[in-house]
Amino acid sequence: MSKNDKLFAPKKVYSEKMYMKGVYVEGSEKFRVVTREDAEKSEHRSIVVPLEYGSIYVVTFPNKTDRLRTAVIDKDPRKMKVGDTAVYKVGDRFKDAYFEGDPGDFEGLLYTTERKGQFMVLYTSDKENIAVNIERIPVLLGHDTDDEWYKPGKQKDLKGNKNSWGKWDWTAEEVLEHVYEPLRKKNPDYITRRDIGRDQSGKYTMWAYFFEPKKYEQTLFITGGIHAREMDGYLGLARFIELMVNEDGTNKGLHYLRTKVRIILIPIVNVYSASEKHIRQNSRGVDLNRDFQFHMEGETINVIWLLHQYKDEVAALIDCHTCMSDKYDLYYNFSVQAPNCALCCRTTNHIYEDLKKRKLAKIPTVMSLVPGAYYKHDKYLQGYAWNRLGIPTLVCEHMHEHYAEEHSALGLELAAEYYGNFIIQTALAKLKVIKK
Ligand SMILES: [Zn+2]
Repeated sequence: MSKNDKLFAPKKVYSEKMYMKGVYVEGSEKFRVVTREDAEKSEHRSIVVPLEYGSIYVVTFPNKTDRLRTAVIDKDPRKMKVGDTAVYKVGDRFKDAYFEGDPGDFEGLLYTTERKGQFMVLYTSDKENIAVNIERIPVLLGHDTDDEWYKPGKQKDLKGNKNSWGKWDWTAEEVLEHVYEPLRKKNPDYITRRDIGRDQSGKYTMWAYFFEPKKYEQTLFITGGIHAREMDGYLGLARFIELMVNEDGTNKGLHYLRTKVRIILIPIVNVYSASEKHIRQNSRGVDLNRDFQFHMEGETINVIWLLHQYKDEVAALIDCHTCMSDKYDLYYNFSVQAPNCALCCRTTNHIYEDLKKRKLAKIPTVMSLVPGAYYKHDKYLQGYAWNRLGIPTLVCEHMHEHYAEEHSALGLELAAEYYGNFIIQTALAKLKVIKK
């Protein structure tokens, strides 16, 4: 077993009975330790998990459960006596922290921040005992350094003025015309493009761009604009690509990407809505990132078709989004079983540290959903790619609403910085080498 294998191997360290009956959730503000007997009678069931720096936690509920809620306390429940209470320390967001999907579908929760001495309380109001598996995965946080960190620096805005870099309501075709096509024409030996089919409306062509250095070591598959409401996201991605193509060798990671990595990129998947409405769904009102399991829509079929052409060569897939929620500072999404899990956590942590340094951080937590190996997650592009093709995946959610105004220069900078660093770190991990 290599050092890398060790780092990436999930390790189950907590049993399902962990504290389950010792702590009772009282109201919404306090936790009170009760006797096991009282806990048995209680409607609330909880599990307390010590949080550790440098770890992520994956919580799996094999059985149906009520909507899960979480909170964090600073007291060690093992040292508390019956009647002792502990109060929420971190605020409201944990009350309804979150979970997509139906109750019982949920299979993951990650934390990657400085939580030493804190305990995460997971609770539901199910009457039955909840069977739960918790895996702790050690993560080398802070492994990446500022030297490797790519900083695009101050950017221009997307307001479409004389001094803007771009225009937030460019059509899909205009994004290509203003950004990707000039790059391709200037670098014909490096960049090519391919028509991958019409969208569902039949009105628009979908294009994939290939950035292919002469001697590349690996291939990444990147998608943007699957949700056409996320303009600052796919434009941030476009800006990063522009910076990468024109890099000057100063940043090691960016230089590696430019010279050793083939990138297959679909700049905008939802071409219809990017061109006409700037909504999430496509021309038929379908959320394309829920369509991968049965792939009924033209856009989805085209992405799947292209992915299948390269499935044995693709080291990782990165799907770039913008998250419209203001609940968290960061939101990333990846398969915890995948070999890119640790690097995703590490990079996420680095981003959070960066936000703190820049005084942009508002909610000191990092939270991610973890699509596991459940068939239902095949409806997402990342679930499809990982579950069916074994391609490690990552969904980057740029969260401009939280720290930058929409279409602002800062928003563009952060989008380029965050997508860019995830792409760079993914490339530097050379996943193909360690992929099983
Ligand atoms: Zn999205």
